This record gives sequence, C-alpha cells and structure tokens, in this order.
Amino acid sequence: MLEGHRAIFLIGCGECATQCCTGGEREVAAMAQLLKGHGKDIVGSAIPQAPCVAAQVKKELAQHAKALQAADAVLVLACGLGVQTVKDNERKGIAIIPACDTLFGASLDSKGNFYEKCSLCGECVLDLTAARCPVTLCPKGMRNGPCSGVNNGKCEIDNDMDCVWVLIYQELAQKGKEGALKKIQKPRNFKKTAKPRKLIFH
Ligand code: SF4
Ligand code: SF4
Repeated sequence: MLEGHRAIFLIGCGECATQCCTGGEREVAAMAQLLKGHGKDIVGSAIPQAPCVAAQVKKELAQHAKALQAADAVLVLACGLGVQTVKDNERKGIAIIPACDTLFGASLDSKGNFYEKCSLCGECVLDLTAARCPVTLCPKGMRNGPCSGVNNGKCEIDNDMDCVWVLIYQELAQKGKEGALKKIQKPRNFKKTAKPRKLIFH
C-alpha cells in the first residue's frame, strides 16, 4: 500500500489499538523502524487518544502541520473509524492508508481480551434476555431461540460454546421469569441497520 510513497507520517491510537497492540506507542515506533529499513522517510508521528474523534484528530493534525507538509502519505494504525476520521479531517489531500484490519466493536475484559457482545442492531432486547445478546452471541442471530440444533446446552455451530439461549433460559428460570420467553419476538427491522447510519445533532 505504501508503494510509490516515500515520506510517511504515522498516526496511532491511544485506546483500542493500544490495547490490541496494533497501534500504540510501541507499535508506531516499531512500524517507523520497519519502514526506515525499507527506505521510507518517517517525517513524524502522533497518537491521539481516540483517532475516531474528529476534534482530537484536528488538534493533532494542526500540531504536526509542518511535518505533514513534508508527508506524501499518512499511515494510520487504528481501526477503520480512525482511518476515515483522519481522511475527513486532513485538508491537504495526502494519501491516507490503513495499517490495520478492523474486526468488530468489542468489550474488553480485565485481562485485556476483546469480545464481540453487541451488533449495534438498534432494537435492543437485553431487557428480555437476562442482558445477554442473542443477536450477537448466537451465530444465527436468533431473536427466538434456541434453534433445533442445540446439543446438551452447546451450540451446534461451535460445540465448545454454550448456546446463549440456554444460558438466557437458565438465568430467567432461576428468577422465575422464564415465562417471558413465550412471547415471540418479531423479526428484526433491518431498515435500522441499513448503512450508512448516522445520528445528526448539529
Ligand atoms: S440486541 Fe444485541 S445487538 Fe441489538 S442493541 Fe442489544 S446488545 Fe446490541
Ligand atoms: S444452538 Fe443456540 S447459539 Fe447455536 S445457533 Fe442454535 S440458538 Fe444459536
């Protein structure tokens, strides 16, 4: 992706990419060394706390305006949101290039592991499902479950994984609320996830 580009400015991420070890201080420094070894000039670098936030990106771009003048590409070690926020706020037309592949929006456990827990569906059912998301934790995204493939409490797609619908049932049953599952959930309204989505406040 950097072929034809010689002077590179690096942008990392102080949040998720730091946690993932794909775009923190250490990885930005390692990338700079790697690229120098391939004959590239590293004209500067910045690590906004959250490069998906336009205000932070604007501030960093302004602070590094001189270095950016010398750059013919910006390599962003962040998720696709960070890459595109840099793209939207860089005014000189410099090539913006992604260094990472983005997998999913995640919650982080205390050991630093990432887990996909929500598919951002816009029709939350966690109030009915003991705060476990069937849209995401069931590989079929079933809003009424379990499916007929459940096997001794395990998921037919992955035998090592508990069927989330069994977990939901067990937890509700402990509280005497399993009757709530008799109510059939309507199919999802996929218009709510039609892309690109936006929330305009100003
Ligand atoms: S139902 Fe699941 S995917 Fe939808 S908003 Fe709630 S947690 Fe997210
Ligand atoms: S076994 Fe359970 S988790 Fe697996 S696909 Fe069926 S309903 Fe979903």
